[in-house]
Amino acid sequence: MTNMAERFRQVRSQIRHAAGIAGRPANSVRLLAVSKTKSAQAIAALYALGQRHFAENYLQEALEKQRQLCGYNITWHFIGPIQSNKTKAIATHFAWVHSVDRLKIAQRLSEQRPGHLPPLNICLQINISQESSKSGFSLAELPEMVEQVRLLPNLRLRGVMAIPEPETVYHRQRQPYHLLFQAVQALGRPELDSFSFGMSGDLKAAIMEGATMVRIGTALFGERSYN
Ligand SMILES: *Cc1c(COP(=O)(O)O)cnc(C)c1O
Repeated sequence: MTNMAERFRQVRSQIRHAAGIAGRPANSVRLLAVSKTKSAQAIAALYALGQRHFAENYLQEALEKQRQLCGYNITWHFIGPIQSNKTKAIATHFAWVHSVDRLKIAQRLSEQRPGHLPPLNICLQINISQESSKSGFSLAELPEMVEQVRLLPNLRLRGVMAIPEPETVYHRQRQPYHLLFQAVQALGRPELDSFSFGMSGDLKAAIMEGATMVRIGTALFGERSYN
C-alpha cells in the first residue's frame, strides 16, 4: 500500500474511532483534505482513493490546481485569510468558505456570488483563544454577526470555524471547542449545523466536542515544505 493510501486509511479510522467514543455516527464528521502547498497530482492521488472534499488557503495556488483538476468532481473549501480584493474569485470558485472574519467580507461574498450558483456555504471564523495574531470574531460578537450574516441573500450561513492555540494536552484541546459549541447551541438556530473544528493534532478532541468537518493536512499528505 502506498504511504498516502495508508495515511488515508489511518485518518479515516481515527475519525470513526473518535466518533464512536463520542456516540456519534461516523458519517456525521466530514474529512476535508487540506492540500495547501501540495500538488495537483497529490490531490488526484487522494481523489483516486475516494476523497472528494479539499480545502485550500491561498487563492492563486488553489485556482491553478482547480484548473489542472477541472473535470474532477471535487468540492472546494476555502480556509485561508481573505483580502477584500480576492472575494470575487473566492465567491466564484468555491462551494464553502470557512474563514469569514469580517462583516464586510461576508457582504462582498454575497454580492459577488454568481447568480447561477447555489448560495455559498460559509462559516464564521471565531478567534476562540483570543490571540491577537489570529483573525476572527470574538465569542461576544458571534450573536450579532449571525443576525447580520444570515440576512445576506447569496450566502448560506452554516456554522463556525476555529483554530485554537496549539495545545498538546487532550483535555485542554477540548476546552475551546466545548466553549464555542455551547455558544452556538445557545443561539437556538438549527441551521447552524456545521462545526469546522480540528486539524491533524487535535482531531479526536474536536470530534468529541462536536466537529462536523475536520481539516486535515499533515496526517494525510505528510509534512509541508514551503520552498
Ligand atoms: C494548514 C491548515 C490546516 C491543516 O493543518 P494540519 O496540521 O496539517 O492538519 C487546517 N486548518 C487550517 C485553517 C489550516 O491553515
